[in-house]
Amino acid sequence: MPTNQQLFDTACDLMPGGVNSPVRAFGSVGGTPAFIVDAEGPYVTDAEGTRYVDLVGSWGPALLGHRHPEVTAAVHRAVDHGLGFGASHPDETRLAQLVRTRVPGAEMIRMVSTGTEATMTAVRLARGATGRNLIVKFAGCYHGHSDGLLAAAGSGVATMGLPGSAGVTEAQASETIVLEYNDAAALEQIFAEHGDSIAAVITEATPANMGVVPPAAGFNALIRELTQRHGALMIFDEVMTGFRITEAGYWGASGREEGWTPDLFTFGKVIGGGLPTAALAGRREIMEHLAPTGPVYHAGTLSGNPVAMAAGTATLEHATAEVYEHIDAQAAAVASALGSALETAGVDHSIQKVGSLFSFSFGTSAGGVHNYSDAQAQESFRYGAFFHAMLQAGVFLPPSVFEAWFLSAAHDDAAVEQIIEALPGAAEAAAKAQPPS
Ligand SMILES: *Cc1c(COP(=O)(O)O)cnc(C)c1O
Repeated sequence: MPTNQQLFDTACDLMPGGVNSPVRAFGSVGGTPAFIVDAEGPYVTDAEGTRYVDLVGSWGPALLGHRHPEVTAAVHRAVDHGLGFGASHPDETRLAQLVRTRVPGAEMIRMVSTGTEATMTAVRLARGATGRNLIVKFAGCYHGHSDGLLAAAGSGVATMGLPGSAGVTEAQASETIVLEYNDAAALEQIFAEHGDSIAAVITEATPANMGVVPPAAGFNALIRELTQRHGALMIFDEVMTGFRITEAGYWGASGREEGWTPDLFTFGKVIGGGLPTAALAGRREIMEHLAPTGPVYHAGTLSGNPVAMAAGTATLEHATAEVYEHIDAQAAAVASALGSALETAGVDHSIQKVGSLFSFSFGTSAGGVHNYSDAQAQESFRYGAFFHAMLQAGVFLPPSVFEAWFLSAAHDDAAVEQIIEALPGAAEAAAKAQPPS
């Protein structure tokens, strides 16, 4: 078997950056990406035969751990009946039913293939259903890579979006208003000024793509109240949090407790159990604006693919209360050991945690991290050293300080112990890291 470096050299010749999704290239941590050839339970193994405890978890889908026997068996059964039909089949309804049982506000569901497609379609649906153009999003919230949602933030108060990527036109970005996350006053002001032109506010249920940033008490409820009052829709992006933070996603820990429901949800990652499935869902009268019952077009050759439906269905069926309790407990143990290790090494930090999702940032203990500006102001140069010390010790972390660590039902005490033992050395490496000159 060739080495990781040989595989990467060949990949770089064939694919931009050697990857099919940018963060995998280790750009922000340096070094050579591990080429994974096998995954089982809490572990991944690279092409050189090195086994790591995995905290990437396929970026979320691996809630039950890799290669869960029941999920794999369900996929094998589905494969034996054909890889795809391009026609209706019973498992689409089964998965939709499981989603609605957990999240009753998901009255109707449309399966799609990626989270990007789910949010893109939800935005189109919101515009089509309201007849309005403007979308409000929050800086640092990631909703996939569709043009209008790649608008980045200016600082401070409301700014009209500037394109966050080459290739996104100003016209596309200009219909996205970007606000600082957790800024209630800016949100109220934008509704006071543009309330009757706003189609929707889209928000991560709890942001976890700028690191984890917990919503301030009442912030999601305020989005709900303002959208309702002004005839706009609330799109709750649960692509990362859905069926992970609770059995009903982050809504299960927020709206369900507080008595509010978004108009539209987007799901991804866990819902596909590792295969390409995502969904948008929500109120019946809004969802019925989608073709073929309504005028808002959406279609997909692979939507509701039977193999993906089997993986998603088996994953949700096995994501029991005990699974969530276990992941919560293991995440608490790792987060607490992380805090102790950094403290012992004298590294200024803060840890942001929402349920089992957590991340940490360097040099932010004084003010904490409440929005994208706070997240960006951290001493991110320390993460490369931290990351590589963990990798050396056999722990595969997300190769970016802006990502959460994903635990799974398969992270048993032995796997967690290996993580905890690696932390002090990594904390010392972070302490010694120097800013780029
Ligand atoms: C991952 C993610 C997306 C995009 O999903 P893809 O399947 O990668 O297109 C959208 N929203 C959130 C909150 C995500 O975490």
